[in-house]
Amino acid sequence: MNRIRSFHSLLLLLVLAALLGGCTETYTSPPAPPRERQASVTPSSTATATPALPAPMLSDIPWDDRSVFEPGLIPSQRNALKELPGASVYHLDLTINEDMTHVSGKLEVRYTNTEDVNLNEIVFRLFPNILDGKMTVSDVLLNGSPTKTMQENQDSVLMVGMPYPLQPGDQAVISMNYQVEIPTTEGGNYAVLATIDGVMALAHAYPMIPAYDDENGWYVETPPNYGDVTYSDTAYYLVRASLPAGQTVDASGFEIDRKEQEGKEIITWAAGPMRDFYLVSSARYQVMEEKVGDTVVRAYAPGELGAENELALQYAIDALTTFNEAYEDYPFTELAVAGTPTTAGGVEYPGIVVVALSLYDEEQPFFEVATAHEVGHQWFYSVVGNDQIHHPWLDESLTQYNTMLYFGKVYGPAGYEEERTSQQLRWDYIDDADIPLDLPVAAYDEAEYSGIIYGRGGVFFDELRKQMGDDAFAKFQKDYYHTYKWGIATTDGLKNVAEAACNCDLTPLFEAWVYPK
Ligand SMILES: [Zn+2]
Repeated sequence: MNRIRSFHSLLLLLVLAALLGGCTETYTSPPAPPRERQASVTPSSTATATPALPAPMLSDIPWDDRSVFEPGLIPSQRNALKELPGASVYHLDLTINEDMTHVSGKLEVRYTNTEDVNLNEIVFRLFPNILDGKMTVSDVLLNGSPTKTMQENQDSVLMVGMPYPLQPGDQAVISMNYQVEIPTTEGGNYAVLATIDGVMALAHAYPMIPAYDDENGWYVETPPNYGDVTYSDTAYYLVRASLPAGQTVDASGFEIDRKEQEGKEIITWAAGPMRDFYLVSSARYQVMEEKVGDTVVRAYAPGELGAENELALQYAIDALTTFNEAYEDYPFTELAVAGTPTTAGGVEYPGIVVVALSLYDEEQPFFEVATAHEVGHQWFYSVVGNDQIHHPWLDESLTQYNTMLYFGKVYGPAGYEEERTSQQLRWDYIDDADIPLDLPVAAYDEAEYSGIIYGRGGVFFDELRKQMGDDAFAKFQKDYYHTYKWGIATTDGLKNVAEAACNCDLTPLFEAWVYPK
């Protein structure tokens, strides 16, 4: 669904709702925005805050106070906290039930319109509704007052209507209560959201503001049940969760508080800058950890998989070392790898990667491939974002190339070649089909998605390296990461950075491999 249609359907429904309810306000003639409100109200101590915004209710920490996030960033990366004044700030308060299948939550978020257009609605994605779970919301407030809302696309889109357009730079605070039912079977989308065999994987399980861009407006589409489902901007999260005692739990970010209360464990995390918040928990988990530079790497798996968990830890450490060198140091003080019942090989989240427990086997070569690949996503997907729905090659294909780098680093040139060959075989599997890399996930069938994005795509970056030369390619890697750090990369942007690095014209190569024909 595109933005124009979604906005018009919201208008229509809101007008209908107003008529049916006998309400006197309609959105067809919105009240004039309070143009003078910045000047007529005494400015707060933080000049960028809109004075009328409600203060946080779920946290004592003011919206603009970034100091709580500082210990989560390694010292050389803490300047990031000054670079993203418009990043959304989420406060979440979760209660997870005894059998880890239900979450009762409260959310408040301060959103800043960082686009260059007025916004007539703020959109939230309720992803559990398209991940075989269920999410309901209630008591939605905009700046402390009730507001009109509408849900669509299998209830996975919640539109919060603005009484007047939110202008560029303007802020709003939205709060709501929500309930999540977590699936207990594998279902669709790789069981990213599931509690199975005593392991709870809590992916995208809060009302989440998607990215807005010039190409598609708000991201409101229902994605295919393969590929990643989120596309979001970098944000900050303060999350408090009440869990049953006896769970071993980790989440994006780092713990800032932990206490026991009436047989429950109450843990608070600060996460950010990150573009999602993920939590994984199990009473069966045991943890191993090791420090690499300024980052602690932790590995979680059920106790009986101790030897395999040690391997996962080693793979993650080697991957971190490889990509720290190739791009820039991983920015956070914590990184976790956790075994879950996902039916994908692995899945990436900011600060945490998960690997399928079915791969936890020393004899299974894909165990190492998947772990290295998912850790590689911390650089591309997490820090450098992209539209994973319409341009999945940007993070997946580059991360496949980075998996070759990992094997080159750990096993030497033969390791690199072997991984390249295995990616070529993925492409061979669909007869080396001449399908471009830069298509939306939905344009490929599942076999093509694997063969092109994960096969042809990794091979493309190897070809790009050969055409550019090793030195220019190494410069491109670092320049591309820095150019789009914390932001959203594009295909044209990637090509421009590469061409600047090699001082060469890469158009023929992109026409042959990348661009839609
Ligand atoms: Zn991936």
